[in-house]
Amino acid sequence: MAAPAEVHRVPCSHCRSEITVTEQYAHGDHIKCGSCGTKHKVVRGDRVRLVIADVGPMKDALVQNEQLVQRLEAELSHARGSFGIGVNGIGIAVIYALYQVTRNEAPLGKDLLWSAIGVAVASGLLLEAVNYLFLAKRKAISRFSEELEEARSEGVLLRQKIREAGRV
Ligand SMILES: [Zn+2]
Repeated sequence: MAAPAEVHRVPCSHCRSEITVTEQYAHGDHIKCGSCGTKHKVVRGDRVRLVIADVGPMKDALVQNEQLVQRLEAELSHARGSFGIGVNGIGIAVIYALYQVTRNEAPLGKDLLWSAIGVAVASGLLLEAVNYLFLAKRKAISRFSEELEEARSEGVLLRQKIREAGRV
């Protein structure tokens, strides 16, 4: 061949450091990463690529990833499921207050005013407490959602790599 030797620099699929793929590497040949030692197979398609030769560790990682996704899904649905409790508490408090007022038929006057203020303060404190729990829960939900999304895209990437490696 008269053309100058073709040299490709392809990032290692594990550590991302560059692996030099010279012309002598044919499609399907094995090449090792100089930095981390991960073995790859050379893919010569419309461009030169590298896929991981030994998919065993990736399959293990995928199993772990699937477990993580399942755990996060469970935690997320648990966090979402316990959302209604605080709101129910307010509803019960309101029903209780209404019940007290209608049943006891307190006479109009100072006593009623003071008890009304008492109810307002108590329900205000309750609302604050619920609001605090609500925010904490919302934070937990958004954190679980984020982690779940990350884990899912990681799983997609792993599956893709395993599929690619299987084709060579
Ligand atoms: Zn590497």
